[in-house]
Amino acid sequence: MLVVAACRDDSTTRRPFDLPEPMPQVGESTDTEHPKARLTRIDVYGVEAPDAAGARVVLAFEGAPLFRQEELPPQGVLPTRIAIWLEDTEWDDSLPASRFVGEGGLLRVRLATPDPRVVVDLQPGATGRVFYLTDPYRIVVDVSAASRPRAGTKPLVVLDPGHGGREPGAASEEHGLVESHLVLELAQLTASRLRAIMPRTRVMLTRSSDVTLSLEERCALANAMEADAFVSIHLNASSEPTRKGGVTTFVLDTTNDRQALRLAARENGTRVSEVSGIQSLLARHHRQGQVRGSLALAEKIQQHTLRRGRLALPELADRGVRRAMFYVLVGARMPAVLLEASFLTHEPDARALASRTYRRAVAEGLASGIASYLHGR
Ligand SMILES: [Zn+2]
Repeated sequence: MLVVAACRDDSTTRRPFDLPEPMPQVGESTDTEHPKARLTRIDVYGVEAPDAAGARVVLAFEGAPLFRQEELPPQGVLPTRIAIWLEDTEWDDSLPASRFVGEGGLLRVRLATPDPRVVVDLQPGATGRVFYLTDPYRIVVDVSAASRPRAGTKPLVVLDPGHGGREPGAASEEHGLVESHLVLELAQLTASRLRAIMPRTRVMLTRSSDVTLSLEERCALANAMEADAFVSIHLNASSEPTRKGGVTTFVLDTTNDRQALRLAARENGTRVSEVSGIQSLLARHHRQGQVRGSLALAEKIQQHTLRRGRLALPELADRGVRRAMFYVLVGARMPAVLLEASFLTHEPDARALASRTYRRAVAEGLASGIASYLHGR
């Protein structure tokens, strides 16, 4: 489940604490004790990017904390800051009490007492946005640095090969194919193709080897780099027999489609109930411009990937542009899509994926779709 709250959007009356649905409100008498949660990690992403335009702070918990968050104006020596008060939550002694960052709008992250809270100090002009993800529970603070003239005008595309490291994703045992390996190769082929057809375009990969990345850090890089497009690349799989395989391009949105919910749950590494619980909460925080751009990017990618893919696999099915709740796309500030490039569990698709010719065709289609989108903006 996920809740998005914009820190600057304080006009509406807020409940004293923002809570995951089944949790009791703070101060409300309950029959059962709310078990203590534990803050175990504080990760900062995006700041390694040169001249980062943003940063993402992720607080990871064991258990579900009760929390409320507020943006506080500068006061004395204290800068504008986002405070996250944690109720009934302990933190590990090993966590640093203060971590200076000084990049991407993020000055520092610190732990404060006596009212236990995490404080995110912002650099001048920076803004922050807080949401949470569950299963496991994470509170995410997205920081945007003060807006400034763009360093260069070269468009930047961030390609995200899904999974990796300890998370191999889907597989086809029969053909010896593993999603995390295939999508890395697809991303590399797409990057070199894109550089060839649009030499002015910069292309970055969220990973260039078989390493584990969290879903949160993938789009943090794209935000920090002010990318013009973010494409997460995956291969589809189904636990049920599928009559057809095919290509689907997803944009982030709520959905009641059972198949889309199951797929999102698998890609998120979470349960279907967690995904279906998100719905209306997210819908309120959509940025319309970003949604329009994502749909335009998705249409181009879908069209071009199919066209090129069909040269190598004529029966490749068109599953269309769809909407689903993929955590990896949450918080992206640029047009962002997730491509399920083919089906590992559909025999003709899997057989095709085993051949370099088909993989190259898919990558060429994806590159051409992205280029077409960038040209048409
Ligand atoms: Zn995947």
